[in-house]
Amino acid sequence: MLRSIRYGEADRILHLYSADRGRVNAIAKGSRRPKSRFGGRLEPFFRLDLMLHEGRGELLTVTGASTLSGYPSLRSSGPAIAAAAQASEAVLRLLDSSEPNRPAYNLLCRYFDMLEGEASPDVETPAPAPSSRAAALAFRLKLALAAGFVPELAACARCGTRDEIAAFSGIAGGVVCSGCEGAGFRLSRQAHEFMVAALGRPLAELPEAEESALRQVERATSDVLSHHAHVQLRAVA
Ligand SMILES: [Zn+2]
Repeated sequence: MLRSIRYGEADRILHLYSADRGRVNAIAKGSRRPKSRFGGRLEPFFRLDLMLHEGRGELLTVTGASTLSGYPSLRSSGPAIAAAAQASEAVLRLLDSSEPNRPAYNLLCRYFDMLEGEASPDVETPAPAPSSRAAALAFRLKLALAAGFVPELAACARCGTRDEIAAFSGIAGGVVCSGCEGAGFRLSRQAHEFMVAALGRPLAELPEAEESALRQVERATSDVLSHHAHVQLRAVA
């Protein structure tokens, strides 16, 4: 569940991202009544197994719901809620199709799992977890990849050379060399390596990166998404 909106006297409209149908909107009638059969499980960030009735309109009707993951620690931590809300908004903005996109669905589940683990005081993480900002940026890059807007990182997006990569250009769609640098902004080696790792490795195995490098990663991702997906996402907190 990405988002839940109060509707009418006792209903909710649910904005969902599903494994099999991509983006889905559904109405849960009576779900805000105290004795609703849905209990408290129709809340944002729940992973649910839903039974949906398909009528003539675009809005499906929820007829049954069981919880796969309730993410109780995530949903009781302010920073984790903010991160999950930002991830949900990115999914809503970037993936509006009813075509299934398993990589995007799995990525969102893994990111929420990670937020749940970080927010839980009982879980001892075997390795130091990446900073929440690094993880949020890596999530955004992976989501861009799943949505088909991956930046070119292996060679200059203008001339194709693999040498002297020095900058990043959102218009060109990736890294650019020192000869083509005029098209972009300076990209540090650490920022470049972070982006390659973020796309190639699991969320939990991100390399360390300084704040200045993470700022460049954020700018590069934003530039690609605004030029090629025509989507402007809010700054990562
Ligand atoms: Zn070049």
